Amino acid sequence: MTMDIKQIYLDASAMLEGHFKLSSGNHSQYYLQSAKVLENPQTAKVLADALAHTIQAHGLEIDTVCAPALGGLIAGFALATALDKRSIFAERVNGEMHIRRGFEISAGEKVLICEDIITTGGSAMEAARAIEALGGIVVGFAALANRGFCQRVGSELTRKPSCSLPEDKPLFALADFTFEMYAPDHCPLCADGSEAIKPGSRGN
Ligand code: ZN
Repeated sequence: MTMDIKQIYLDASAMLEGHFKLSSGNHSQYYLQSAKVLENPQTAKVLADALAHTIQAHGLEIDTVCAPALGGLIAGFALATALDKRSIFAERVNGEMHIRRGFEISAGEKVLICEDIITTGGSAMEAARAIEALGGIVVGFAALANRGFCQRVGSELTRKPSCSLPEDKPLFALADFTFEMYAPDHCPLCADGSEAIKPGSRGN
């Protein structure tokens, strides 16, 4: 099944062009606002079904899908629905990712961590550690799209040193979005005199 994920993001006005400061501190000409894609439940379903198909074709055994809140919540729920698995989430308390809300993890429970977008995998790894601290086994990672730092199943793109996901666990995603990111000191957009905007800081 082929799908033009980039076109879906563009159609939903979810791929913003400008000069952005990302949560990593780096700057970029583009920003992906997955919530704008997922505001349409039918689109969320189509994407999650396709992602579930990829995971099932790989034969990965999963008991539970866990999403790092907030970013992964909707993608995680949609994917769990498509896989017909339990859906839980991890959330930050005082900066640290925890499993709360009475969610229980059995010893050996197989958990797939689901994000909206995997960049270097930092939040996904924090959620994974929270699961493993409770005795669960993280069997893999999933996202609607991969920003090109990690290697997803079925892509020729190689893993970059900044990817924090484990090399021995699969990452499933529907597409690679490989636009450039710049350290603030080496940002050509800054050099042109514009100011980087943190998405969300101006009412969006
Ligand atoms: Zn910049």
